[in-house]
Amino acid sequence: MRISRRALAALFLPAPVLAQASPRVVVVGGGFGGASAARALHRAGIATTLVEANAIYTACPFSNAVLAGLRPMEAQRFGYDALRAEGISTIHQRAVGVDAAARRVTLADGSLLPFDRLLLSPGIEIRFDALPGYDEAAVEAMPHAWQAGAQTMLLRSQLEAMPDGGTVVMVVPPNPYRCPPGPYERASLIAHYLKTTKPRSKLLVLDAKDVFSKQRLFEAAWAALYPGLLEYVPLAMGGRVTEVDARARRVTTDFGTQDGAVVNVIPPQRAGAIAQLAGAVDRSGWCPVDPASFESRLVPGVHVIGDAIIAGAMPKSAFAANAQARVAAAAMVALLAGRPVQAPKLLNTCYSLVAPGYGISVAGVYQPTNGLLTDVPGAGGTSPLNAPEPVRQAEALYAEDWYKTITADAFG
Ligand SMILES: Cc1cc2nc3c(=O)[nH]c(=O)nc-3n(C[C@H](O)[C@H](O)[C@H](O)COP(=O)(O)OP(=O)(O)OC[C@H]3O[C@@H](n4cnc5c(N)ncnc54)[C@H](O)[C@@H]3O)c2cc1C
Repeated sequence: MRISRRALAALFLPAPVLAQASPRVVVVGGGFGGASAARALHRAGIATTLVEANAIYTACPFSNAVLAGLRPMEAQRFGYDALRAEGISTIHQRAVGVDAAARRVTLADGSLLPFDRLLLSPGIEIRFDALPGYDEAAVEAMPHAWQAGAQTMLLRSQLEAMPDGGTVVMVVPPNPYRCPPGPYERASLIAHYLKTTKPRSKLLVLDAKDVFSKQRLFEAAWAALYPGLLEYVPLAMGGRVTEVDARARRVTTDFGTQDGAVVNVIPPQRAGAIAQLAGAVDRSGWCPVDPASFESRLVPGVHVIGDAIIAGAMPKSAFAANAQARVAAAAMVALLAGRPVQAPKLLNTCYSLVAPGYGISVAGVYQPTNGLLTDVPGAGGTSPLNAPEPVRQAEALYAEDWYKTITADAFG
């Protein structure tokens, strides 16, 4: 048998160099960011292992329609069979540690996964230290429903059980948080539910800020569709909630207290715990990254995408997480091959439903500038303020199509 000179040389190469010839990437978090990134890396020929705590992913986009009884919960659930069928090694365990220097991830059962580069897309965790009274136990009486699944169903059942004439209170946090227009879409669809099933009821939205995404569009729609039913209280009018009493279903603002038959608290958030364990989180609670490669500014060799990062002007959305996944995957492939990383342009569009068949949207294009993702001037914008009904209907259909496309891209 003849052995080539190259094969002989390879036998004597030190292990790390051999590892570089067949690089391994571990992805932690199989949501919109992580699942999309794992597929992009695998397609680029990188040996990819996806670590995801749950066997079934429950998607947040459109979960506000589930709350309003407009959509079944089944439409939100996705498995990982398609990723496995493609050859992506998918492990359903929680990652509990990252040793960036030794390049390995520790799983809940104690096993170790070595990597050449690591990508984290762990989403958010709720900050139970940020709003007095809102601790782990409070989520049962005052669901946040900001991580879709059991919390969504709990809030739905509370809304269904509420007698006609009750007051629903929504508590909206200051920036930054997952899905900037999400609370206002939720307010719209809860208002629709009340209007159509419990018309003597009221929705009070208490907001810790004065300015929000697609504000003029939402406010125009509320005035037209839900007058007298939906009351919005911004920061300047005393909307900031300073304390909650879960047992009494009571919230306190700078101006007094308010009881609710149903209270939905959307609390402050931070990057998922594994990002903190990896050392990738700064004092803000989020992960600073290089905006071209999404490599952590704090931990070399570890990339972070999605809701967990400080993304400058780019919002925390599923659309954004998916766009960042492609860019981060391409950058990781380049870095593993010793090639330079290309400066990207990233797109985001967020659709919101204000009623069935009534959609609005905001779009933006982003590029790295001075170490952050900034708006590309002149690109993007919102739906027109005074649009005829067919335009709103078309946007509601685009939203559905977007959901089908992005979930197919992430989960197959
Ligand atoms: C009500 C609502 C409506 C929304 N609507 C829209 C919309 O219309 N359009 C839009 O673009 N976005 C929307 N979003 C935002 C969108 O859901 C998030 O921005 C998106 O899910 C972020 O993706 P991600 O990958 O960063 O995190 P996630 O999708 O949350 O995925 C994180 C995954 O990581 C896993 N994980 C975390 N830690 C570990 C660990 N240690 N080990 C293993 N696995 C782990 C979790 O189980 C989870 O599956 C909405 C959000 C909400 C709450």
